[in-house]
Amino acid sequence: MSTNDTQNPIIVWFRQDLRLHDNPALHHAAQTGKPVIALYIRDETSPDIRIPGAASRWWLHHSLQSLSADLSALGVTLCLKTGPAADIIADVQRETHTDAIVWNRRYGEGEQAVDADIKGNFPGEAKSFSGIIMHEPSKVRTGSDKPYRVYTPFWKNFSGGEPPRKPYPKPKEINAFQGSLDSESLDDWHLLPTKPDWSGGIANVWQPGEAGAHARAAEFMQDHLDRYNEMRDLPAEDCTSRLSPHLHFGEVSPHQLWYRSYEKSNSPRSDSDREVFRKELVWREFSYHLLQEWPDLAEENFNRKFDTFEWREDEEALSAWKRGQTGYPIVDAGMRQLWQTGWMHNRVRMITGSFLVKHLLIDWRHGERHFWDCLVDADPASNPAQWQWVAGTGADASPYFRIFNPIMQAEKFDPTGAYIKKFVPELKDLPAKHLPAPWDAPLTVLRDAGVKLGDTYPRPIVDHPMARQRALDTLQASKEANEAG
Ligand code: FAD
Repeated sequence: MSTNDTQNPIIVWFRQDLRLHDNPALHHAAQTGKPVIALYIRDETSPDIRIPGAASRWWLHHSLQSLSADLSALGVTLCLKTGPAADIIADVQRETHTDAIVWNRRYGEGEQAVDADIKGNFPGEAKSFSGIIMHEPSKVRTGSDKPYRVYTPFWKNFSGGEPPRKPYPKPKEINAFQGSLDSESLDDWHLLPTKPDWSGGIANVWQPGEAGAHARAAEFMQDHLDRYNEMRDLPAEDCTSRLSPHLHFGEVSPHQLWYRSYEKSNSPRSDSDREVFRKELVWREFSYHLLQEWPDLAEENFNRKFDTFEWREDEEALSAWKRGQTGYPIVDAGMRQLWQTGWMHNRVRMITGSFLVKHLLIDWRHGERHFWDCLVDADPASNPAQWQWVAGTGADASPYFRIFNPIMQAEKFDPTGAYIKKFVPELKDLPAKHLPAPWDAPLTVLRDAGVKLGDTYPRPIVDHPMARQRALDTLQASKEANEAG
């Protein structure tokens, strides 16, 4: 590789791709032989770009620290800047006489507007790559060249078409930019919580950064993938990959996971388990394709008929839901898992989401925003797409009239009560059969378990049969309002 520093430098602009392996933009920059400037911009001012929530900021801090260390090992300094991306890039370009910039594409409307602006104005080559999803939205379309609204045909097209490209290797060496370029200090960004520092529970369970992502992937592929299909709906089993935050920040690429899922195993079940896992990766893909086509996914009902739906304003109930104090143990366990660890099991995301939207009749956007703030994997595509799926307002959504029963969900998916006991410890001495609905337990059983409803643990904030009927009636009223015009 040339280390001819008479060449103009090239900027690698890191965004949702905080990794060295399988990073097409970085790979390209390294191959040019030009001096590489590694840049990360904290842009909280360009319009229509969502500012990361508190849990994501915690993750970002550690992920950038890890990326910075990995780049340093190759002699490259990660430069951190704050401000509107177009202005920062123009400044860096002038200061360093850069004549090329590369990045991996993003799919939000605000991000795409920024990228298009920079592409149009950069005095040199501005090149983008596909790095965070496996196929560009323009590549997976219906027969009549429309975006898919339904997952199953999307999956069929995706899995039956051209396979994703193979992952790129990590660059062996990079010609690092040797000139001077000021960087801000990560600590000065104050991404970590201080007063109070609530991040202890999160720090205990996660290792942000590319090394953490690969360790997690290796463990999952070796220990859990071969029973994924059977166990993935059981929140007490640590059986899903928990790769979602690593995928969101781009510490591992979906391409890498896609191909790793084909690696050999002796288990007879493994082929179907592997395919189910790949299908989940493709749900993520589907969400990005939806976001590209319907940019206001987090703001507007995908199904506009729900615009007439009469959501309730109920601050008290919303607050009880957020704090895990609804009196429904499976809901409370999920909300507390979210609060303590920055993550919630998929099955329980569906249960808690459904409870908010159907039992409490609270607008899904309140839930989406709360998850946005609390999830370490909060994602601009998957979060709104899945909230709309749960609410019944989305593309290919679970119909609104299908209302999860939180008692039966607990019985079916947490049969031993291990998940509830872990996150709702005040119920830990209740026999498993009473955990889904403690209010139905005989008083003596409650007393023996040290449970005093309304005191040590709340009574249900809403009655299940009443809430179910109220949700169905509200749906009917909304339908009639639509029919009346
Ligand atoms: P695994 O089961 O191991 O799946 C592997 C990967 O596939 C995940 O890491 C994820 O990237 C992807 N994936 C799996 N299921 C889905 C799905 N239904 N939709 C999209 N991608 C999926 N996922 C996010 O990444 N970010 C979010 O902000 C998010 N918000 C959600 C909100 C609600 C209300 C619901 C119901 C689901 C949400 N999901 C979100 C999807 C899903 O719950 C998580 O991706 C999954 O729980 C992550 O755990 P895992 O990595 O162990 O998943």
